[in-house]
Amino acid sequence: MSRPGLILILMDGISSQRFAETRARLPHLDALARDGLLIERLGADTNANSMPARAGVLTGQPAQVHGIYSNGIYFNGIHCPDSEVEFASITGTETDSDRHASGASATAGHFRPARGEDLRGETLLEAARAAGLRVASLGFGLARPESCNWYLSPWWEEGDLRAKGMTAPRLNHWDARNDALMRAMSNDQQLLNEALSLIERETPELVLIELNTPDYCLHVHGNDDALVDGALMMVDAQLGSLLAGLEAINRRETYHLCVFSDHGHAPVQRALVADRLLPDVALQCDGGLLLVACDDDERQREQAARLAEFGVTPLAAADFLPPDVTHIQLYQAPPGMSFEPACKHAHHAELMAAPGYVSTHGFGPGATSDQRFAILHGPSISAGERLELESLALHPRLRQVLGLPPLDEASTPQRARDLQEVD
Ligand SMILES: [Zn+2]
Repeated sequence: MSRPGLILILMDGISSQRFAETRARLPHLDALARDGLLIERLGADTNANSMPARAGVLTGQPAQVHGIYSNGIYFNGIHCPDSEVEFASITGTETDSDRHASGASATAGHFRPARGEDLRGETLLEAARAAGLRVASLGFGLARPESCNWYLSPWWEEGDLRAKGMTAPRLNHWDARNDALMRAMSNDQQLLNEALSLIERETPELVLIELNTPDYCLHVHGNDDALVDGALMMVDAQLGSLLAGLEAINRRETYHLCVFSDHGHAPVQRALVADRLLPDVALQCDGGLLLVACDDDERQREQAARLAEFGVTPLAAADFLPPDVTHIQLYQAPPGMSFEPACKHAHHAELMAAPGYVSTHGFGPGATSDQRFAILHGPSISAGERLELESLALHPRLRQVLGLPPLDEASTPQRARDLQEVD
């Protein structure tokens, strides 16, 4: 490798505040932050949820451009990539609702989890490949397999079944059993082991990996539970195991490291059970945000009025959605509340309930609890601290670290420029 590569490590769900409070007990992250560039508060994406945030870092663009406006993308056979419809009809996997949707109104579909093929435009992975670099993604959400030399799908998509050019680790199936925390930690560690083994064999120039234990632990146990401290200490120890492994195979100086979180976290006291408030409509609960698919003005007004009874406020769709997505309305929960689907509250019929996730994210524009941290470390990074940066500022700097051409001036959002101009 002619210049140092980059290992991009996403630690899911660690807020800037949580990192600051816990840093003294996280020796490996603390050392990276001390010797590298610490961004204490990396701004939240407009929709501060996992998939929009990944897309922001991968593209340096806002959701209006990259198209991942939510953890769930609305799908009805109209607003979807053509290939997906063709694939469904060819393979016979088309469902009754698909067939119904393709000839029906724009709101007869449903939200489904965002995937790599929903992501619009060039990502860091394609830019790296175009420059002749080799790319490995180990369980990183929204990475496109075709953009990678080595690929392991995210373990929540049964990553053990879809490995390209890699030995598949024995990842655990995701479910809500009481050993779920152990499963999350075990999967994270197996991804790290795979990464280290690949680095020793092949030394890819760009390696992406994500560790999900903190987010899971915060959702289920809440910020004040001692287990959260333990999960952060565990993920720090896992990072330490990677660093020690790199040292042992003499690759520590071969890479820059970027460790960052996708969003913050904050406790909620109550959850609005969205599909009981608005039955018979396709909707997506994204923590403190609710997306509703409706193209009928009269119905939209009724929905907004119903939600307003519970303190829910509408948001400007243009701040979140690509211009061609015209039939989705966005709403923000009142302080201390989130949106959850009825399937999480099957044991009673209330409209408002104790939340299944006692801590969450996606609290809407300007919410400081959605802010996260980032650290850049390596040969070309001077030690320092930046108090606050806009969400999209990380991507241009990652390009710079890899020696890739910058985003062209016209397509660089103003808020992405800040960190690029450092040093
Ligand atoms: Zn996340």
